[in-house]
Amino acid sequence: MKHPIYLDYMATTPVDPSVAEVMWRYLTPTGEFGNPASITHVYGWRAKEAVETAREQVAGLIHAEPNEIIWTSGATESNNLAIKGVTEFFQEKGKHVITCITEHKAVLDPCRYLEKKGYEVTYLPVNSRGLINLEQLQQAIRSDTVLISIMHVNNEIGVIQDIVKVGAIAKQHGILFHVDAAQSVGKIAVDVQQIPVDLMSLASHKVYGPKGIGALYVRRKPRARLTPQIHGGGHELGLRSGTLATHQIAGMGAAFALAQSLMPTESIRLAHLRDLLWQQLAELPSVTINGSLQHCIPGMLNIHVHKTDGESLITALQPTLAISSGSACTSAEVEPSYVLTALGLTGEEAKNSLRICVGRYTTEKDIMTAATCLKEKIQWLRGMSPLW
Ligand SMILES: *Cc1c(COP(=O)(O)O)cnc(C)c1O
Repeated sequence: MKHPIYLDYMATTPVDPSVAEVMWRYLTPTGEFGNPASITHVYGWRAKEAVETAREQVAGLIHAEPNEIIWTSGATESNNLAIKGVTEFFQEKGKHVITCITEHKAVLDPCRYLEKKGYEVTYLPVNSRGLINLEQLQQAIRSDTVLISIMHVNNEIGVIQDIVKVGAIAKQHGILFHVDAAQSVGKIAVDVQQIPVDLMSLASHKVYGPKGIGALYVRRKPRARLTPQIHGGGHELGLRSGTLATHQIAGMGAAFALAQSLMPTESIRLAHLRDLLWQQLAELPSVTINGSLQHCIPGMLNIHVHKTDGESLITALQPTLAISSGSACTSAEVEPSYVLTALGLTGEEAKNSLRICVGRYTTEKDIMTAATCLKEKIQWLRGMSPLW
């Protein structure tokens, strides 16, 4: 079977072949397979060297110091470490956390867990473009607030929050600020020298690196304090124990270095491809953007195809295009996306939405094929629908 065109780069990305090449060097008997914690022989030293090179590469992309990077198993673990670690460390100071309703589940679920443990969490709403209101953030701050956690780029609509301003507000009140940057780092410029952020979650597999590896940036000056959540051996400055996954780490480092060198040209190319696709789709009546193109990362398009059943549309597109709909399969049934309903869409409207994201391996020809296919299937479904 011919593979459909992949337009779901927000869900995950393939490992860049040059990154896979690097990873391969740290696995086999003839490679650098040693334990980076082994200090008595060259196998350990070489593995440690690879880990520290990768730490510099990851730090380099966000302008951090290498010793501010803590390896984890992914952004989910980084979010858990930041949110649970900070609140545990400051439990005597207060038990209030501020976040936003459109955060990834990897932030919302740790917050729900805290609520069960007696914490209070304020979930800020967003406007129709997906942005939080800074006035509302100011008003939500209390004397017992210990953490603000706001994502940089939303994984469903691609909207960029103003984390410089959020961080400034957090600093004004002496509150720690955590950012889930899984969808921004490698796509848009992120500089922790310019952003008053204390903790930042990073993922590898959204940036053409392997799955199962990520990092937490932990600011040194002033030092962000948090309690470790995994114990056993005291790796990573005691913040995250466990034998380091050398091949995964080397892969993430190579992927971040590559992203840094490609970003200037890729961001322009991806924005062009996205605009090209939107130009064509906008020719159809009643197709609108969810979120805001003005505040969106390059390459990302979330559209509402009015009065056109999303599930049928995705099914019709499947042989040609791999894209996501505005719904998520929970345990039992198909639920509309909580991100889209937070923008003000009804459940029905959210289900009739598509998340389309182009990436490093998308060509202009792919976009032409995608546009033709989307237009054809949308018109075909609408032609059969009594609603239309
Ligand atoms: C993908 C993603 C995560 C989870 O990252 P993993 O590395 O898969 O654990 C967290 N937050 C956002 C915004 C994401 O897009």
